[in-house]
Amino acid sequence: MAHRRKIVIANWKMHGRITSGVQLATDLAQKAAAHKPEGYDVVVCPPYSLLWPVAEVLAGSHIKLGAQDCHTANHGAYTGDISAGMLVDIGCQYVILGHSERRNGHGETSQFVAEKVAAAQQAGLTAIVCVGEDRPTRESGGAVEFVTKQLKESLPSRYQTSSLIVAYEPVWAIGSGTTPAENEIQEMHGAIRKALGATGEVVQVIYGGSITPHTSAGIMALSQVDGTLVGGASLNADGFWAIADRCR
Ligand code: PEP
Repeated sequence: MAHRRKIVIANWKMHGRITSGVQLATDLAQKAAAHKPEGYDVVVCPPYSLLWPVAEVLAGSHIKLGAQDCHTANHGAYTGDISAGMLVDIGCQYVILGHSERRNGHGETSQFVAEKVAAAQQAGLTAIVCVGEDRPTRESGGAVEFVTKQLKESLPSRYQTSSLIVAYEPVWAIGSGTTPAENEIQEMHGAIRKALGATGEVVQVIYGGSITPHTSAGIMALSQVDGTLVGGASLNADGFWAIADRCR
């Protein structure tokens, strides 16, 4: 069986001002210095306004930097957007793409997400591609079919498996305090690998949605789960580090 590296990714979403964001990053950098996350990766994705100050705090630490979105183009007349190259300039190595809050709140289609994946990889970023079904789809028994189709449509015709992470994030689990059963996560991650074809065994497939220090134990122990994308619980240094520590 392929050996896949584990990874824990913090999605701060639109949270944090300069003072609180720098404090959280400082707390995390101290934890990383004390606990040395070796053999697995810890990534923090702050809002754009915090990328630079957080990059300065994390410089030289074991924690890597990511962003929450990027545009498909390198530069141009795209008011309010940011390019993958600009994220690289500021020290990012990762970018979250196709999060359900972008798909549902900004009308992002899977085809658009696929273009972003191509742009991100072209710039040298690892693309964290989010996929997930809503509750009616899960309840009707169509989750696996929906997610595998959404994933295929969210990937460009050519992509680098070495800079791709797939995050299975059921929309109904995000911020709700509920998670799928462990066998449902295991089944979905297996289906995602199958949909990826020959490279499915080497791509990191992670779970996201209401992960807490408590729920992370069982989920992160699943053989198909290579880590987690953490929203709300990533805003607390102790809680987030307790989740990251599960990778040991
Ligand atoms: C997310 O939105 O990526 C997420 C995982 O959120 P939460 O952990 O808050 O459910």
